[in-house]
Amino acid sequence: MNRTGILTFILLSVWHTSYRLLAQETDSNTINSYISESNQVDSLITVNKINSKTILIKFGSDAVSAINTRNGIIVIDAGISTGLTLKYKKIIENEFNSKNIKYIINTHSHPDHYGGNNVFDKAEVVGHENGIKEIIVQWRDTTKVINRISKIVDEYELQMANCQEDSNNRIEAFIQKTRYYNALVDAQSKDFIRNPGVTFSDSLQLDMGDVQFEMIFFGKCHSNSDILIYIPELKILFSGDLFFKYGRASINDKQMADKDKWHRAVKWIEKRIPNIETIISGHGEIFTLEDLRSFNQIILDK
Ligand SMILES: [Zn+2]
Repeated sequence: MNRTGILTFILLSVWHTSYRLLAQETDSNTINSYISESNQVDSLITVNKINSKTILIKFGSDAVSAINTRNGIIVIDAGISTGLTLKYKKIIENEFNSKNIKYIINTHSHPDHYGGNNVFDKAEVVGHENGIKEIIVQWRDTTKVINRISKIVDEYELQMANCQEDSNNRIEAFIQKTRYYNALVDAQSKDFIRNPGVTFSDSLQLDMGDVQFEMIFFGKCHSNSDILIYIPELKILFSGDLFFKYGRASINDKQMADKDKWHRAVKWIEKRIPNIETIISGHGEIFTLEDLRSFNQIILDK
């Protein structure tokens, strides 16, 4: 490779790391440090093969799942940023040896679940109809959002500086800093936002030939747009951010108590429990049926 070739390669690598803003400083040390950061990011992304058709990609709290069906790939949640989700997209395409990604389903409209929607430019985005309004409200004051994310990046930076080199805490802080840094780059352009284009108010079934996706609106709870996604053929339930380990419900505020809808959704889950083997949460934790049952009980007791 000649000098120009090497430079082009370096610059392209920097571009792919999404550290576009920081690339203002162009001395070679800086460039090299970004490339090594990008390599470090790659090495910290984990891929969990749930079954022959399903993978779960994780990077800290980013959790993106992909299901390979006869009629194309379905992605569940899109992570916090376009920069990182571009990496997840490549992993999905390599894993299934296909670029035919048909739908992205957002479990709810929080930025850490829809931030990477835009990366899947040929796919339709599916989500609850309330999500669109939620996204508008979240971005009403962009400056405020940018300041908030900047502060988070600074906090993780400081945390890293206070941790021992190569300690788990430092790696955790690095992952979080990277997630929010990429989100910050997106927020500064704001072009990244992509609303769901296929929405529903109550329930929706997506027929992908060999695999069905059954979705139901849970009712206002963790957000205004929480849905559950059940895949009977694969015995999987995606639970979004509705509950934590041991079934502890995530109710953001009392205004969100949507009890009639909750009880209806719990009945819907209970009917399916005999055929559920894997429960994947919005941040990639795998829950047990016990966690799900206690969540149902907690909701019914409300
Ligand atoms: Zn959430």
